[in-house]
Amino acid sequence: MRFETLAVHAGGEPDAETGAIAPPIHLATTFRHGPAGERRAGFEYVREGNPTQERLETALAALEQGAAALAFGSGMAAMTALLESLPAGTTVLLPADCYTGLRVLADEFLPRSGIRAHRLDMSDTAAVSAALDAGAGAVWLETPSNPQLQVADIAAIAALARAYGARLFCDNTFATPALQQPLTLGADVVMHSTTKYFGGHSDVMGGALVFARRDTGYEQVAHRRHVTGGVLAPFNAWLTLRGLRSLPARMQWHCANARRIAEFLAAHTRVAAVNYPGLTTHAGHAVAARQMCDFGAMLSFRVNGGRDAALTTAGRLQLIHNATSLGGCETLIEHRASVEGANPTSPQDLLRLSVGLEHADDLIADLAQALDF
Ligand SMILES: *Cc1c(COP(=O)(O)O)cnc(C)c1O
Repeated sequence: MRFETLAVHAGGEPDAETGAIAPPIHLATTFRHGPAGERRAGFEYVREGNPTQERLETALAALEQGAAALAFGSGMAAMTALLESLPAGTTVLLPADCYTGLRVLADEFLPRSGIRAHRLDMSDTAAVSAALDAGAGAVWLETPSNPQLQVADIAAIAALARAYGARLFCDNTFATPALQQPLTLGADVVMHSTTKYFGGHSDVMGGALVFARRDTGYEQVAHRRHVTGGVLAPFNAWLTLRGLRSLPARMQWHCANARRIAEFLAAHTRVAAVNYPGLTTHAGHAVAARQMCDFGAMLSFRVNGGRDAALTTAGRLQLIHNATSLGGCETLIEHRASVEGANPTSPQDLLRLSVGLEHADDLIADLAQALDF
């Protein structure tokens, strides 16, 4: 089945009792069992699993071509459950440019579980090879990366990880399986913040892991989620399932808008640089073209004139909102250095855009007037 068809139908069997086409939301926290705890329909207590979440997990596994998926209450809960399931003493390689939450997790929390992080430029495959040779047990990729849109070669790094017996994890939030499917390129686990494109409407938080194999790695994380409780609420599972039905269609429009905006910005005299893998001038363009079927709708750009000029631009926008997060219908802009805490890693002249589903002409007009000062 093609991806678009899967997105509409995966985990979407009509309700057996009523024939309802939209799936029921089961809010029950507990499920009747036999006198000795015999399960009747596979469920016992909501923290372990529930029917609405299971539908979502079935759909997510199908969309990423994985063997099993686990839904979480947030992307960070998913990421934490996976990384903390690594054996104490493991060194994990992380991208130098990555989601801020991952950086803070690695600095403040992973060391308490005996997990060391080593950060490097993942677009440099030779550097990844050297770090694996030095003894890393796991690699975390985020491609394209946040907020600088760096591209890592998933297939090449998967081959290296396999040769060194290391596990490969991939945060696929920016691309979504509509554009890139890391498990088919050799990754072991894909992570998502479903808060972003899966939900798609800036109104539901969630996270997920999709496993290439239903192996002990999967069992350990499922057990960890059951015990530590990072599960997704049934209503959030339902909203996310509703969102993913239109994921392929939305991604197509998102990408088309982003391409036009990237081209507009690249030609603008006030813009020093545009980070968008769809531009042929982007350092990761060739790799992105190989492993993605389109280039996504996240981009960042640097404004001539430094921090002040970037903040002035962001402040002059009228249609585009200044807000964090991404993947919703509305276009959002953010000065990342201002929101990255005490030690920001983003350049001060950089603005990140999550390109939404408005008409590109209106977005370009807003950017044009904002840059004209
Ligand atoms: C938002 C995001 C996360 C964290 O997900 P939450 O749902 O906010 O916990 C992780 N990685 C990336 C790339 C993100 O954009």
